[in-house]
Amino acid sequence: MATHEYEVVIVGAGPAGMCAGLYTGRSMLRSVVLERGFPGGELLNTEVIEDYIGFEHVLGHELATKFQAHAEKFGAEIRTSTPVEYVEKRADGRFDTKVENGDVYVSPTVIVTAGGTPIKLEVPGEIEYAGKGVSYCAICDGAFYRGHTIMVVGGGDAACEEADFLTRYAEKVYLVHRRDSFRASKIVQQRLFANPRIEVVYDTVVEEIVGKDGLMTHARIRNVKSGAASDLVATGIFIFVGFKPNTGIIRGHVEHDAAGYLITDSSMQTSVPGLFAAGDVRAQLTRQVTTAVGDATTAAIAVEKYLTARKNGAPAPRPQPMLVPAAG
Ligand SMILES: Cc1cc2nc3c(=O)[nH]c(=O)nc-3n(C[C@H](O)[C@H](O)[C@H](O)COP(=O)(O)OP(=O)(O)OC[C@H]3O[C@@H](n4cnc5c(N)ncnc54)[C@H](O)[C@@H]3O)c2cc1C
Repeated sequence: MATHEYEVVIVGAGPAGMCAGLYTGRSMLRSVVLERGFPGGELLNTEVIEDYIGFEHVLGHELATKFQAHAEKFGAEIRTSTPVEYVEKRADGRFDTKVENGDVYVSPTVIVTAGGTPIKLEVPGEIEYAGKGVSYCAICDGAFYRGHTIMVVGGGDAACEEADFLTRYAEKVYLVHRRDSFRASKIVQQRLFANPRIEVVYDTVVEEIVGKDGLMTHARIRNVKSGAASDLVATGIFIFVGFKPNTGIIRGHVEHDAAGYLITDSSMQTSVPGLFAAGDVRAQLTRQVTTAVGDATTAAIAVEKYLTARKNGAPAPRPQPMLVPAAG
């Protein structure tokens, strides 16, 4: 077990973590990016990206490799296979970031870029057809289904809103929900029911995702009331049954929203001075590669200012309240 001292520790090497590492490296800060697996984050689960500006068509793993090379060129130190167990504020105001092998990284600032995980249906075929019909992101993958018949699974706001959104591309969208009514807000439901391209399939669960020649062809579904099984023909299935931010590593109280996403001010600082968050782990309107790297840029620059203020003996910038737009 060893102790390492850095000026900033970055947790997670997805797009946000690598971008933060690029900027802290460029600013000559002693920084390290701790990644539990390989660098890339959700890019490694994404076949093709078509909405990252400047890249009309890029493979997820290809973009991840480019991010890593670019970040390392500017001095980012990325440690792979280094899962973080916890981040905890010390009595001296710095943070301990403890990793699985027992090592502790001590730093006055931490940027959490640990992302989140879409909750899976955990049915046969879901992993096999990921990126080949199975998706967890309508904005990202909707355009691949122009003119297709697809299905959406879920009953909350996300499922209903995304079903509506997907009719921009798909000819027909089946919305499969395991209950007989939705928990989505009324206004979202009104839009859903007014959309002639959406057909709701109530009281139904997906039991298997089936395909041929590496592409999804249909889903095997079951009505939970009658017990009857049938096949629903669709070339895509968008699963919106929840998304869990990876915030369990943070010890102590940090402000978060009802779903557990970290609330930050406009400099990406959380309610704990010195603790910053960027990317999918942060409470915000949308979660994309562009927003992740945008957050990370802000966080890295804010960290530099925070450290400079500390060195000069000035009070470090404290978290500012979030500006919430007035209703109406
Ligand atoms: C299937 C799918 C398709 C998508 N397609 C697109 C698209 O086409 N265009 C687009 O713009 N966006 C797309 N997105 C969204 C985009 O991938 C994310 O918004 C982006 O990856 C967020 O980056 P991030 O760095 O915040 O988080 P992530 O990419 O989730 O990276 C987080 C990293 O933190 C690591 N980590 C987590 N916990 C720990 C720990 N305890 N210790 C160490 N490391 C840890 C993880 O291993 C991971 O590498 C897609 C998402 C999905 C799921």
